Amino acid sequence: MSQFIGRTKKSWPGLASAYEEISAARKRLIPCGNYSITAQFNPRRTTNSTAAVDEESIRLRPCFLCTDNLPPEQQAVFYRGEYLLLCNPAPIFDHHFTIASVKHKPQEITSSLNRLLQLAWDLSPGYAVFYNGPACGASAPDHLHFQACPAENLPFLKTLSFLPPVKELSSVRFYQGQQIDRSIILLESQNSEAAAREFLRLFTIIQKILDINREPMINLLCTAACGYLRLAVFLRAKHRPAAYFASGERRIFVSPGAVDMAGMIITTQETDFNRLTGEAVRSIYREVSLPEDITAKIINAL
Ligand SMILES: [Zn+2]
Repeated sequence: MSQFIGRTKKSWPGLASAYEEISAARKRLIPCGNYSITAQFNPRRTTNSTAAVDEESIRLRPCFLCTDNLPPEQQAVFYRGEYLLLCNPAPIFDHHFTIASVKHKPQEITSSLNRLLQLAWDLSPGYAVFYNGPACGASAPDHLHFQACPAENLPFLKTLSFLPPVKELSSVRFYQGQQIDRSIILLESQNSEAAAREFLRLFTIIQKILDINREPMINLLCTAACGYLRLAVFLRAKHRPAAYFASGERRIFVSPGAVDMAGMIITTQETDFNRLTGEAVRSIYREVSLPEDITAKIINAL
């Protein structure tokens, strides 16, 4: 993977600059009571954070993940006949990949889950793979894709499995995030098929409890290490917090996806980076996450 980035940087000066910037990016540890998060100042993510993801805007723009529209300098690795592994042109980490379907088809998890789990195994143990739902973080909701980054950059997952499991069913253990202002259910298993089956059951339970037919708003973060697959499901109530749409001083440009929910909050504006407080982070997390009472209903129905 390092060689692939090195090779692409050589033929794409813009990518080399992006990686130089990310290695020097300012970061700030923000205590939030029971936990801490890291804020990263990353102006290159402005396009992603402010992406218009409504249907009309998506329909009118050329899809930036379709092969014909990729930058000419972009190199790709063909993955299992269905995806292209690409260097993300606006990295958050020193290794940051987008794994895009070769076909233009909507971001949707039930039909692509097995590939996500396979990808986590294929990139194990060094990488975490993540998925942003079409309505909560994906800047290309019309083109199926995942992302991957070094797992050590998101240590959050490890902390969850130190908790006692809330359920154990058909070789899958379920854990629930506790007192971290987010609604998180973690599935852990040595068996990919069982993990996929239990995730799809969880998916249906969420739909039933929320009384919806569409894909529930979720972000997924998946790692595979020491023979175990860990799949964290962030249950969301909304995509962007009210502060994102506020005017003047009250505006905070934070548009949470899987990485932000996992404790690395990306700020594209320097003022937001400097003034983001633990209380503001907690408030954003609570606002965009499914409320505790609904999460409790989901856990009970497992
Ligand atoms: Zn496309």
